[in-house]
Amino acid sequence: MTQDTPKIVVAIDGFSSSGKSTMARRLASQIGYRYIDSGAMYRAVALYGLEHGMVSADGTVDEPALIAALPDINIDFIPLADGSQHTMLNGVDVEHEIRQLRVSNVVSPVAAIPAVRHILVEKQQRMGHDKGIVMDGRDIGTTVFPDAELKIYVDASAQTRAQRRFKELVEKGSAVTFEEVLANVMHRDMIDRSRAESPLRRADDAIAIDNSAMSLDEQDEWLFREFQRTIKNIMSE
Ligand code: C5P
Repeated sequence: MTQDTPKIVVAIDGFSSSGKSTMARRLASQIGYRYIDSGAMYRAVALYGLEHGMVSADGTVDEPALIAALPDINIDFIPLADGSQHTMLNGVDVEHEIRQLRVSNVVSPVAAIPAVRHILVEKQQRMGHDKGIVMDGRDIGTTVFPDAELKIYVDASAQTRAQRRFKELVEKGSAVTFEEVLANVMHRDMIDRSRAESPLRRADDAIAIDNSAMSLDEQDEWLFREFQRTIKNIMSE
C-alpha cells in the first residue's frame, strides 16, 4: 500500500464466537488499521451494571438506573505492543473481567437497551470518522457504518462457535463446562437476532463467509483478498 491508497472502513459482523474478532484484529494489524472490538464496549457497560447492582446475575436490568449512569461510564482502549488492545472502564483495565461468563451471561439484555446502543454507536462512529478502521460486532455494517466500503458477515455453527469459546475460556483458567458455554452462545444468538433495536442481520451488501471448516491462515488470506479487491475497485472508479 502506498500513501495514495485510500483508507476504508471494514465492518465485520456475525454471531457470538464466530471468530470475527480474530479475523478483524489480524487484518487490522496486517494492513496497519485501527481495530475496534465493539462487543467489548457492550461488555464494559454490562460489567459496570453488575458491579453497581443495576444488572443481576440472571440478566435482569434496572434500566432507568443504568440509563442514568451512562454519562459516568467511560470506555477506552489502550493499544499494546503486540498489536492487541485492552478495554479500559473508567481508567481501569477490565480486559480479563469482561470476557468472563458472568459478563457474557448478561451482556445481551444490556445491549438490547436502545439508550445504551445510541451512546455506544455514536462513540463507534466517532472512532471511524477518519476511516482506516476495522470494527467488528453485530450491527456495524447495518447501523454503525452503513456506508462501509467492505462488509463481511461471518457465520459458523453454534457447536463450532461454542467449542472455540470453551477452549479459550479453559485456556484462560475459567472453570466452565462446554454445555454452559453452548447454552450461553445460543441464548445470546437468540437475543441478538430478535431484539427490536439493530438486531443482528446480514447487511444486503455484506459478503457472507462460513468459517467452520477454515483454518486461521485460510481465513486471513480470504479476508486480505477481499480487502485488496475493494481497494482496487475504489482506485479504478
Ligand atoms: O462480540 P461479543 O460476543 O464480545 O459481544 C458481546 C455482546 O455484545 C453480544 O452478544 C451482543 O449482545 C452485544 N453486541 C451488540 N452489538 C455489537 C457488538 C456486540 O449488540 N455491535
